[in-house]
Amino acid sequence: MSAHIVIVEDEPELAALVADYVRAAGYSAAVFHDGGAALDAIPHENADLLVLDLMLPGVDGLTICKTVRATSNVPIVMVTARVEEVDRLLGLDAGADDYLCKPFSPRELVARIRAILRRAQASSASAPPIQVDTAARRIRVHGQQLDLTPTEFTILAAMAAHPGQVFSRARLLDLANGDSLDVTDRAIDSHIKNLRRKLSAAAPGVEAIHSIYGLGYRFDL
Ligand code: CA
Repeated sequence: MSAHIVIVEDEPELAALVADYVRAAGYSAAVFHDGGAALDAIPHENADLLVLDLMLPGVDGLTICKTVRATSNVPIVMVTARVEEVDRLLGLDAGADDYLCKPFSPRELVARIRAILRRAQASSASAPPIQVDTAARRIRVHGQQLDLTPTEFTILAAMAAHPGQVFSRARLLDLANGDSLDVTDRAIDSHIKNLRRKLSAAAPGVEAIHSIYGLGYRFDL
């Protein structure tokens, strides 16, 4: 399947030129001319890479970059007319993967896109499917951050630390009670149900939490 590239650029001629080159390279392209519209659309585009102009009407490219980065590892190439912005773009709080200064050659942009996609593919092949950040209490599945309640985090982090091991409801209850004292058996089942829903959104078609009849639950991804 060919990669999908989202291009956010407010100069219509430049946006069309870039989209032509991207399509000629065999990718699909979606173009947005306005920052706010782009930010609304990006969660639904399922992009493999974003090309963001820095100066945009509505929401600027840096804000889009930071907003996307809060929940996604999608590669981002920033385009800027100001070379003095570059350090900030690639810095930790913005989190862009690469940049080009205007004026740039669309051919060069496509070469960068190709290189970044190749790198992203190689690293997603070697990255573990689930990454638990205990300090930040965040869990990523296939690079996508899950939006978890504290109890869901506690349960999933514990299960993910011991893949293949069966967790009884009593043990899950103990874990959950570390957060609050009024968790019941039934509540455990509903936490598991919610976790399954969130996991299957991040890893479609994969059953990560298995019910083991009479024993409890087992995590495997
Ligand atoms: Ca611009």
